[in-house]
Amino acid sequence: MEQLINFLGHKVILKTNSRSYADHLKNYFQPLTCNGTGHDHDISKVIFLDRDGVINKYPGDRKYVTSLSGFKLLPGSVRAIRGLSQAGYRIFVISNQAGVSKGLYSRKTLKEMTDFMLKNVEKAGGKIEKALYCLHTQEMNCACRKPKTGLLKKAVKGKKVDIKNSFFIGDSLMDVKTGKAFGCKTILVLSGREKLKNSPSWDVAPDFIAKTLSTAAQNILKNKYERA
Ligand SMILES: [Mg+2]
Ligand SMILES: [Zn+2]
Repeated sequence: MEQLINFLGHKVILKTNSRSYADHLKNYFQPLTCNGTGHDHDISKVIFLDRDGVINKYPGDRKYVTSLSGFKLLPGSVRAIRGLSQAGYRIFVISNQAGVSKGLYSRKTLKEMTDFMLKNVEKAGGKIEKALYCLHTQEMNCACRKPKTGLLKKAVKGKKVDIKNSFFIGDSLMDVKTGKAFGCKTILVLSGREKLKNSPSWDVAPDFIAKTLSTAAQNILKNKYERA
């Protein structure tokens, strides 16, 4: 025996002779009530990470990392990323690498560094979903060079993201400006370009300041960076 009912606007056919209504409803609506993470309908929190000076050693003023051997992971950065991704944050690396357009290193070398970084994070049990780079120089006036937000838009395209409770973590004021322009919370880390002693001349105020990515991640996981 079948019965047609209207449940939340859906027409549901119930075979009332086999199982209880409750079972039928449960089976019918199961896809809408999953409690895992990573499903398309979940709203994700994202962490955008700058690369140089945050994950790996800052190569020095106006310099680029031009080879895999020059790409040195900072102590604790891989573990920090693992902690954040295991807590459910989706991680994207957002980095300006104009050195490619300037001919200082090739796309292939950049990819070697990316593969190295992603593999190390994965080996530790974490995940960087994607590394997105702007390869343009300032003169090229593209839409993706930070502090423009083109790469962030690209990273979250088609995803439901809780931007207000997402973070941009970087070692320069340009990163802070990028995160603010996108509506994220911003954390300036002092493991790279920017030093606290320069703060009187900063033209933008980071929401939070942390010594390293490691301390930033610990504070995020302890909910110390909640908005008032
Ligand atoms: Mg940097
Ligand atoms: Zn660009």
